[in-house]
Amino acid sequence: MVKTDVVVIGAGPAGIFAVHQLGIIGLKAEVVDNLDKIGGQCIELYPDKPIYDIPAVPECSGESLTKNLLEQIKPFKTNFHLNERVEEIIKEEKNWKITTNKKKIFLAPNIIIAGGVGSFEPRKFTIKEAEKFENKGIFYSIKDKNYFKNKKICIFGGGDSALDWAVELSKLAEVTLVHRRNEFRGSGHSAEVARDLEKKGKLKIKTPFQISSIEGENKIESITIKNENGTTEKIITDYLLGFFGLIMKLGPIAEWGLNLDKKHIPVNTENFQTNKEGIFAIGDICTYPGKLKLILSGFHEGALAARACFKLARPNEKYKFEFTTTSKNVKERLGVKKID
Ligand SMILES: Cc1cc2nc3c(=O)[nH]c(=O)nc-3n(C[C@H](O)[C@H](O)[C@H](O)COP(=O)(O)OP(=O)(O)OC[C@H]3O[C@@H](n4cnc5c(N)ncnc54)[C@H](O)[C@@H]3O)c2cc1C
Repeated sequence: MVKTDVVVIGAGPAGIFAVHQLGIIGLKAEVVDNLDKIGGQCIELYPDKPIYDIPAVPECSGESLTKNLLEQIKPFKTNFHLNERVEEIIKEEKNWKITTNKKKIFLAPNIIIAGGVGSFEPRKFTIKEAEKFENKGIFYSIKDKNYFKNKKICIFGGGDSALDWAVELSKLAEVTLVHRRNEFRGSGHSAEVARDLEKKGKLKIKTPFQISSIEGENKIESITIKNENGTTEKIITDYLLGFFGLIMKLGPIAEWGLNLDKKHIPVNTENFQTNKEGIFAIGDICTYPGKLKLILSGFHEGALAARACFKLARPNEKYKFEFTTTSKNVKERLGVKKID
């Protein structure tokens, strides 16, 4: 069990900056995110696109924004629990008990929900045998490419993830890329590289094909794919990788007894608390009159929620407002060497 001052649910820009605001007032946070990487929508949906409305940063990409936010919280040595979705929140005396899908338990007086549009989840194969092989022979993300070394792999999908992984894994495994259309959705360059590898006999491409069955008892032995004319082909394979994009689901957040307004959590704008004491919501997931779904709003909301967390985390202390420019305490927490 991990005990902390605040559990932040969601490692998007709002969640990361909230860690900073908690850190400078001396509160510890643990961050949990369903995705395998930090950055929320900025990294998952538009890592390379330029953003032009971060205060004092004329232009940055989703990726560089995330990198800089992480740099800013470095002094706090925060733990990020990735690939874990918060499933359950229960009140236990003065604390909230927070349980993830991997049964990790956190105990904290405060929770900041920075869950954006909910948890991103991969779109999955729809044929019935697929569930049985999930995480055994079928994967929707790759943690270590060497796991697939010298194996036979079928990659499904037509976007950048499918193309990029097909290209990358073709260097160490026998790869067949299957897509239901002749044209790929991914960037022209990735598609060109894949077609080039096909010409060189280093990658097999099957289009327009879809999966129709998976054969094998305890492990995948082969699959059958079918095209629009009903022509079928059998492919001997060890693993299936599905890259069909992500669906955004509010997910378990809807089950925590919080007031909801459509898919958002209403908060008061004084401290961004929800209808439950000690549970705050910031960033895209919260709603209030005039809410703007912008990164800069999430930063402001996190600053106020962090101060409100202080009350429950340090009930015997009084929060004192301080500027980072002049506060000795803040500078110490940030590890600033020269303190005037
Ligand atoms: C294409 C595009 C362009 C954009 N351009 C701009 C722009 O120019 N300027 C701007 O200000 N904004 C822009 N935005 C909006 C901006 O990206 C969002 O406002 C911002 O990402 C919201 O941050 P967040 O931290 O609230 O949530 P998110 O970035 O959505 O992160 C939320 C995180 O919470 C996780 N999560 C959810 N539920 C759970 C759970 N139960 N357990 C564990 N983890 C969970 C999710 O996996 C996700 O990683 C753009 C958005 C898009 C899609």
